[in-house]
Amino acid sequence: MSTAGTAAGRARGLVLVVEDEPAIADVVRLNLAKAGYGVHVEHDGERGLAAVERLRPAAIILDVGLPGLAGDEVCRRLRAGGDWTPVLFVTARDDAVDRIVGLEMGADDYVTKPFSPRELVARVTGVLRRAQGVPDAAPQRVGRVTLDAVRRRVFVGSAEIALTATEFDLLAHLMRRPGRVFSREQLLSEVWGYSSVAGTRTVDVHVAQLRAKLGGASPIRTVRGVGYAVEHSSAAEPSP
Ligand code: CA
Repeated sequence: MSTAGTAAGRARGLVLVVEDEPAIADVVRLNLAKAGYGVHVEHDGERGLAAVERLRPAAIILDVGLPGLAGDEVCRRLRAGGDWTPVLFVTARDDAVDRIVGLEMGADDYVTKPFSPRELVARVTGVLRRAQGVPDAAPQRVGRVTLDAVRRRVFVGSAEIALTATEFDLLAHLMRRPGRVFSREQLLSEVWGYSSVAGTRTVDVHVAQLRAKLGGASPIRTVRGVGYAVEHSSAAEPSP
């Protein structure tokens, strides 16, 4: 319903808070913003799900006891749809923690009410750090382009391509979800860590630089009127 955070305030990424109790939502929002996160708040499960799709947050703080679609069901639907955005559950004391954490619901962590704001911020930071450290251990390959996220190296065939840190982060972000279309605003928020309509030209410039460096092997496709996606297209495949 409301998104807080200036350009600087989103430097640590956008956190979606789904919480139906306004007083708790306010405390969470204020403390996350103070800690440098961008924050978007929704008050029920359906809107929460829609906001995940629309905003692609870096992490989600999900109240279990929501009206309508409950928090655990929101998480189950996300995971079933292949969305592994880190989720930190917030539960009331009488919520069954075992049910949330034990049953492969895909929760990354949880806190029980009442919780201290400092504790919550620490948990969010921990969840994000783990989420960023774990995936992409194996090099990813799209067509002739191979990206090694651990060593931060990119190859076309066997030739290494020198990329700037931002070019690398942009390519890695796109290659993490092949086929998924990212808007310029999303890329700016997720790769650069800030939001600015004027800044979307930066995304175009970096994509152009990446394409120039990757040449005919570039897997980045322009989706007109929307943004960019990495595709396993026939044009990107080596000739047999
Ligand atoms: Ca609740």
